[in-house]
Amino acid sequence: MTNSPAQSEFRPSSVGNDVVIRTENVSIYYGSFQAVRNVFLDIPKNKVVALIGPSGCGKSTLLRCYNRLNDLIPGARVEGKITYQGTELYDSRVDPVEVRRRIGMVFQKPNPFPKSIYENIAFGARVNGYKGNMDELVERSLRGAALWDEVKDKLKASGLSLSGGQQQRLCIARAIAIEPEVILMDEPCSALDPISTLRVEDLMHELKKQFTIIIVTHNMQQASRVADYTAFFNAEAGNGGSRYGYLVEYDRTENIFNSPRQQATQDYVSGRFG
Ligand code: ADP
Repeated sequence: MTNSPAQSEFRPSSVGNDVVIRTENVSIYYGSFQAVRNVFLDIPKNKVVALIGPSGCGKSTLLRCYNRLNDLIPGARVEGKITYQGTELYDSRVDPVEVRRRIGMVFQKPNPFPKSIYENIAFGARVNGYKGNMDELVERSLRGAALWDEVKDKLKASGLSLSGGQQQRLCIARAIAIEPEVILMDEPCSALDPISTLRVEDLMHELKKQFTIIIVTHNMQQASRVADYTAFFNAEAGNGGSRYGYLVEYDRTENIFNSPRQQATQDYVSGRFG
């Protein structure tokens, strides 16, 4: 193990050839502030990848740049290269709306539309031009999010009438209804009780058969339970005292937790800071 904050040597071969998203030397700025520095990270297909690390080290910032949500923040800027299925995500010819269709997002706080359970699923699908049988899509999506049995008799009830855990699964159902390839999850369980959390974690094991999942979590047990690969980020003081986030180490989850190569990772996963 070393103390150096050297960039991970984890390269594409380590996750196999089936890389869905390739992150090459990515830095992210808010105005002149560099929030994330020089990240190399490959996301393997049909796996769950967890981004962990202390608050403020840029995990959410990095996650948001995978579906170009940072575009909506004035002053936010991405340098380097992110390639999704061989296409450069930040190429001027790429439509960010199409990116967000293929790379969906589930947020920290469940945010169903103030519409019926049915419409929460149907609305986005319709906007995306879905022409198939809507009842079937709604059922399939709710089943996929392990919610169908709980809501099948009240599809006209408001999505907001559900419990927090059910609302989050409704948001997952809404995300999978438009058939993305990747689902980004930003602390999806932090507003949920422990039982709902376990249900969403179980669901992730199912979902990865069909989707690739990148999850930001503060909960290390959660990362160890759900993630195939884990990326540990930390923050360092840069010029002028501001702190930038960087990737310390990326590896199979069991290696990150049981035999990390970097001292900082060891300190973090054993609860010594963060
Ligand atoms: P994490 O998810 O690891 O807690 P964030 O990605 O939220 O970290 O934040 C990384 C850094 O970027 C922090 O210093 C934070 O204050 C800053 N930051 C996040 N969002 C914005 C924003 N919209 N505008 C300016 N700075 C931001």
